[in-house]
Amino acid sequence: MSKEIIHEYIFSPAPGLRGDVVVFLDRDGVVNREVHLLHSVEDFDMLPGVIGAIKKLNDASIPVIVISNQTVVSRGMCDEKEIGRIHHRMVRELSLGGAKVDGIFYCPHSPQADVEQYRIDCDWRKPKSGMLKKALELLGNPLRRFMVGDMARDVLAGKDVGCVTIVVDTGHGGEDEVFGQDPNAKPDVRVADLSGAVDWILRQLL
Ligand SMILES: [Zn+2]
Repeated sequence: MSKEIIHEYIFSPAPGLRGDVVVFLDRDGVVNREVHLLHSVEDFDMLPGVIGAIKKLNDASIPVIVISNQTVVSRGMCDEKEIGRIHHRMVRELSLGGAKVDGIFYCPHSPQADVEQYRIDCDWRKPKSGMLKKALELLGNPLRRFMVGDMARDVLAGKDVGCVTIVVDTGHGGEDEVFGQDPNAKPDVRVADLSGAVDWILRQLL
């Protein structure tokens, strides 16, 4: 008996976006401060410089897509409504600074889930690249792809769909357990934070 795999996501691209490029962002440790297993909207804390960095991508008409594993749901630490509240807060704080993301995708599944409904070895769960593939399809398959993350699984998922991969030192800074063991998890670039990543990306697109 197979379970039905349901993924909630937001895709609301701004008008007039470029069709040739996309920037994917991991969420925890890249956009908001890394809190071990963030599962409550009160603990969401935007990292410094993030709003301005995302606004620079918006001003360059580059699609910005958030891609995150949310195993907190599979662990039963919160439900998907709380994930929605966290994303609503992120969107609201960005909008107060004149910035927006064009899509938010997450995977609540895990093969080790405590909650039976979410116990699935899901293609969307990083290091697999299902989330990125879905977003690429919706965006019309832009050819220039960038992935900004803080963990090996972000690099692996990004490389699987041909992204240039950038690891930031905020969050886990790419020093998680897989990083260093798997040569494929070596990012193309390392920078201090999202601002540094965005400035680097924009230089590549000149
Ligand atoms: Zn999933």
